[in-house]
Amino acid sequence: MKPDQLPATKNAVVIVAAGRGSRMGTSDDGPKQYRSIGSHCVLQQTLSAFNTSPLIDLVQVVIHRDDLDLYNEFVFEHSKLAMPVFGGATRQQSVYLGLQALNDVKPENVLIHDAARPFVSPKLISNVLEAIEPSICVLPAIAVSETVKKAKADANTTWVTDTVSRDNLYLAQTPQGFVFKEIMAAHEYAASHDKHEFTDDAAIGEFSDMSVKLVQGTRENIKITTSEDLDFANNMNDLNHILKVPDIRTGNGYDVHRLVEGKAVILCGVEIPFNKKLDGHSDADVGLHALTDALLGAIGDGDIGSHFPPSDPEWRGAASDQFLAHACKLVRARHGIITHMDVTLICEMPKIGPHREKMRAQIAQICDVEIDRISVKATTNETIGSIGRGEGIAVIATATVVIQT
Ligand code: MG
Repeated sequence: MKPDQLPATKNAVVIVAAGRGSRMGTSDDGPKQYRSIGSHCVLQQTLSAFNTSPLIDLVQVVIHRDDLDLYNEFVFEHSKLAMPVFGGATRQQSVYLGLQALNDVKPENVLIHDAARPFVSPKLISNVLEAIEPSICVLPAIAVSETVKKAKADANTTWVTDTVSRDNLYLAQTPQGFVFKEIMAAHEYAASHDKHEFTDDAAIGEFSDMSVKLVQGTRENIKITTSEDLDFANNMNDLNHILKVPDIRTGNGYDVHRLVEGKAVILCGVEIPFNKKLDGHSDADVGLHALTDALLGAIGDGDIGSHFPPSDPEWRGAASDQFLAHACKLVRARHGIITHMDVTLICEMPKIGPHREKMRAQIAQICDVEIDRISVKATTNETIGSIGRGEGIAVIATATVVIQT
C-alpha cells in the first residue's frame, strides 16, 4: 500500500532490521533477524507483536539491502505493513531512513523498535504509547540488579579494575516512543552535527535537549545478539507456547423466518422443493443467517443486520452465501481459524435429513472449511407454538474460532 492510500495514521512504528549481527559469530545461517524462533523468524515474531496491536496503525521496517530476498521469504504481508526501506551504514542512519519513509504519512507518534526484540509485550507497547508527550522521549528500561564490574582483558585473562555502583543504573530497551515530528527533527539535528553513531534514539533526543522519561521495561524483552541469546529465545518461546492459553472464541446465532405460499425453501444454501417459501428481504436462508451471526458473535463484530441492513435495497433477494463469506473474511482478517460450526434447524416440514450432507458441503464450500468441521442437525418443535404449527422455520447456530496470536 502506498502511504497516500493509508488512512490517517496516529501511531506508527519503525522496526530496525538492517543490522548485520556481527556478534552472532561466523555462522552461515544468515543475519539474526531471519533466524528462527519456533516456527517463525525473529523479525516476523517482532512484526506480529505490532501488526496485531490495535494501537498501531502503520509498521515501517528498515532492512539491509542484501536481505530483500530473505525478507520476502520470511515475512508475511499484512495490511499495516508498509514496503520495507533499505537502511544505512549505522543504526542511527537506518532509523533516520525509516522515519523519512513515514514523512508523507506524518504520524502523530512513532515508536522505534529493534527487530531483535521479539518478546515485546502488548502491555509494553501501550505503556510506551501512553507516556508520549511533547518534548519527552519515552524509554522502557529495567533497573540493573546485578553488581556491576569494570574489567580489562590482557593476553589470557580478564581482570576487574573497579566495582561500579549500580545505584541509578538502568538498561535501555525498545520500543522507544516519540512525537514523530520531534524525533524527526532530532535526527536531522544530530546528522547536521555529523553525529552518526548514537546507539539508541532516546540519546538522539537528549542531544537535542529533550527530556527522557523512563517506563518500566520487561525482563522478557531481551535483545537477541548472540547465538546463546537465540537458544535462550527458543527456550523462552517453547515455554510461552506451553503456558499460553489458546484464544478460543465461541459465538451463537439465532434466526427465524416466516413460511409463506411458494414452491421451495432455501436452507443452508440448498433449495428444497416445498409448497411454501421463506419470507424475507434476501433469499431468506435462515440457516446461513444464523451461522453468519454465530461467526460475527465469535469475533464480537456486530450482527448480520449491522453489516447488511435489511433496509438497503442492495440486499433485496440477495443470495445469503455472500453474507456468510463476508463473515468468514472478517474472521480471517483477525487471524481467526474457523474450527467448528454447528447448525440446528427447527421445523416440522420440510424433512431435512435427505438434504443434510448437501447442506454441509455447501457451508464447507462457502466458508472454505473442511466438511468434518461442519454439523447440520434438525429437530421438530413437537407441534408446539408457531414453529410447531409450521408458520416459520427457526435456526440456532454455533461457531468456534481460534484467534492466532
Ligand atoms: Mg434472517
